[in-house]
Amino acid sequence: MKLSGKSELMSVLNKYNFSFSKSLGQNFLIDQNILNKIVSGSGINENTNVLEVGPGAGTLTRELCLKAKKVTAVEIDKALIPILNDVMSDFDNFNLINSDILELNINELIKDEFGNESFTVVANLPYYITTPIIMNFLESELPVNSMTLMIQKEVAARILAEPGTKDYGALSVAVQFYAKPGVICSASPHCFTPQPKVTSTVVNLKLYDKPKYDVKNKEQFFKIVKSIFSQRRKTLVNSLSGSPYLDLSKDKIIDVLKQMELNEKVRGEKLNIEQITELSNIIYETQE
Ligand code: SAM
Repeated sequence: MKLSGKSELMSVLNKYNFSFSKSLGQNFLIDQNILNKIVSGSGINENTNVLEVGPGAGTLTRELCLKAKKVTAVEIDKALIPILNDVMSDFDNFNLINSDILELNINELIKDEFGNESFTVVANLPYYITTPIIMNFLESELPVNSMTLMIQKEVAARILAEPGTKDYGALSVAVQFYAKPGVICSASPHCFTPQPKVTSTVVNLKLYDKPKYDVKNKEQFFKIVKSIFSQRRKTLVNSLSGSPYLDLSKDKIIDVLKQMELNEKVRGEKLNIEQITELSNIIYETQE
């Protein structure tokens, strides 16, 4: 059974009197070419465990099950459960969980589904939960290998951004701290039904096996990141000394910048992750 054509998908959905929910971000994929790119870009094979967030009517899920060892999918919408049970009935490497991914105990779920084995996240994400989903998995101590995600084009640009560009911000640093991001493809609105208003991009985040950056105090590092980008037009000295998250004097910051051979007037948004790491470590190690 192929579901990737609009008429095939609609005939299954109509059989169950399904109506799309805008608030759950239900734009279902109907483009076989994009499905192929997601599956090949995610690098899954017969040894891969996959966690799919929001399987919808199972269009992508079926393609994942053809390639992966096991696919566990978490879908919030009760109305999709009988449809998924029907559409996925010919696979024995599939398990469906009817729940809100943000309310689930992810540690327990992963242990129950995959034991101690590593897994890959694949999702055509509802836009309203993109950032929490990404950050929850990156910050978890779980054995996630990679995340292959269909997200809004603008969010992809922020994830991939380089220092000093307009898209470079807290999300770029947070994602690039844990993972190497890459683009798989873009998808225009007509690849979905109903059509979204925005263009989408499929990204792959390959998580580092060992931390890439030697940050001595992660909490402080991220307070610095938050301070830099919540006041990005200010100089680094002003954004850090005026930050509600930190307790640092101007003199202290100027002193650290001298040690790093950086200009006193530098703006935080110009710093790459190595430099923010060095800044954070010097501050941490010289704290009274
Ligand atoms: N994977 C399908 C596809 O590509 O055609 C559907 C993708 S659609 C963009 C997003 C899916 O996520 C919908 O099925 C929606 O019901 C589900 N969803 C939305 N919020 C969710 C949540 N908090 N937890 C789990 N699933 C959710």
